[in-house]
Amino acid sequence: MKLSQILGKDKITLSFEVFPPKTEANYEAVKKAALDVAALNPSYMSVTYGAGGSTRANTVQIASAIQQQYGITAISHLTCVGATKEDIDHTLDSMKEAGIENVLALRGDRPKDFEGEPFTDFHYASELVEHIKARGDFCVGGACYPEGHVDAHNKKEDITYLKKKVDAGCDYLTTQMFFDNNIYYNFLYRVREKGITVPIIPGIMPITRASQVKTACTLAGTNMPERFRNLVDCFGDNPKAMQQAGIAYATDQIIDLIANGIHNIHVYSMNKPEVAAGIQKNLSEIIHD
Ligand code: FAD
Repeated sequence: MKLSQILGKDKITLSFEVFPPKTEANYEAVKKAALDVAALNPSYMSVTYGAGGSTRANTVQIASAIQQQYGITAISHLTCVGATKEDIDHTLDSMKEAGIENVLALRGDRPKDFEGEPFTDFHYASELVEHIKARGDFCVGGACYPEGHVDAHNKKEDITYLKKKVDAGCDYLTTQMFFDNNIYYNFLYRVREKGITVPIIPGIMPITRASQVKTACTLAGTNMPERFRNLVDCFGDNPKAMQQAGIAYATDQIIDLIANGIHNIHVYSMNKPEVAAGIQKNLSEIIHD
């Protein structure tokens, strides 16, 4: 099913994100963890893609297994950095063959060894969105950044380019993680003001290990509120306590979003079925069939 048929209804959706195996050696273990998340029967799932296409085939395989074994709609992520139109068409063909109807179209980040090299066929995700849409087969999503993308000179410019990407054919957007919902509400106001009307799905990252904080804040430029910092300071050295606190914090964010009228919630559960299940359980009286 196309995501556009799932979103935008009165029903609240809760979706989970997983990653594909990176090597043959860990293939079965990573696949099992992804499918254990699918067994929780979320509204839909998304499967990430290694920039540069390192896990290209695995993304499609995992998305296809989720759909076939659990009947859950899966989104395949796809990055265009370093790819030719031929590479992209090859991947899109394999998605179509596997019955995948949803793509999250991304630019991706250039691996360190390619920095400074000329671009191939795509400079920005908007070009990929346009290319995919021209085929007519897929429901296409894009990424957005409530705190501004790290490359953007400022948030205003980032939203101007985001509008261009949506106009190229995005059916919906999913946000980068944020730990303060006011950042999302403010972003929503600013993008609606600029005429972006597609669903903007908040992406919630449950931080269940202290080491994840560094990645979130350094690579993605995510702001860490004092309340969240205290939690990591207090529980960061105790893995079980940190997991429980991270699930509780993410649950709290989700309940606040739903209470403010946001119906579609995406959780960066990654391949942690226990984390996805913890959040789902906390919301059992709020989100059900
Ligand atoms: P773009 O939309 O192209 O934007 C990138 C930058 O270019 C922004 O600063 C933007 O303002 C600027 N820009 C856009 N258009 C123009 C223009 N015409 N002229 C000048 N500047 C412009 N990465 C992966 O490798 N695999 C994944 O599976 C993956 N999944 C993700 C899922 C989500 C929901 C999010 C939020 C991110 C994900 N990423 C993933 C990370 C993403 O690839 C990086 O954040 C990347 O740096 C930007 O990708 P984009 O698609 O947002 O790029």
